[in-house]
Amino acid sequence: MNLVEHAGDFAPDLVVPIIGYRQWRMTGGGGLTSMYDGADWPEAEITARCDRGHAPSEVPAKNCGCGVYAYYDPCPRTASATTPDLIGGAVVVWGRIEAHAYGLRGKHARIVALELPLSRGRKRRAVIETAETLGVAAVPHRALKTAALEHGAVLQPSLRPKKTVTRAANIWSRYPPA
Ligand SMILES: [Zn+2]
Repeated sequence: MNLVEHAGDFAPDLVVPIIGYRQWRMTGGGGLTSMYDGADWPEAEITARCDRGHAPSEVPAKNCGCGVYAYYDPCPRTASATTPDLIGGAVVVWGRIEAHAYGLRGKHARIVALELPLSRGRKRRAVIETAETLGVAAVPHRALKTAALEHGAVLQPSLRPKKTVTRAANIWSRYPPA
């Protein structure tokens, strides 16, 4: 089987955690929510649920939006720099995975590092507080990949579908990889 051609049908149950990158909103007091659906991330580790009826064993389901979202590449540092509450970070994802061209949806995810802003003001203090609350590292943008590699592996490109979806219709193209 050609894994590149058939990558859209490929939902591997991976043993090694896969590295991903994403953003969150800080809610104050060390809390985080998903910037995609507003769901709380009360702890570093979460398990995705589907609100459209998929059983836990089916999440993330193909042709659904369920699962924890993560990109293969770090979001650009500028993606969250101008906002007071958006932060980037690295996760590892494991269990069932739906691979997309720019990122993946996974069943389980754990934050392994949060990204420190360049500024030294309130936002930096909030990131450090959030990282301490969750028990994860807070590192500069340039150190994010190295920090992530301590916890997982990159999903090999042959398991990723080609980038054929038009950007306007593709959630994964919001922060196309550099
Ligand atoms: Zn679903």
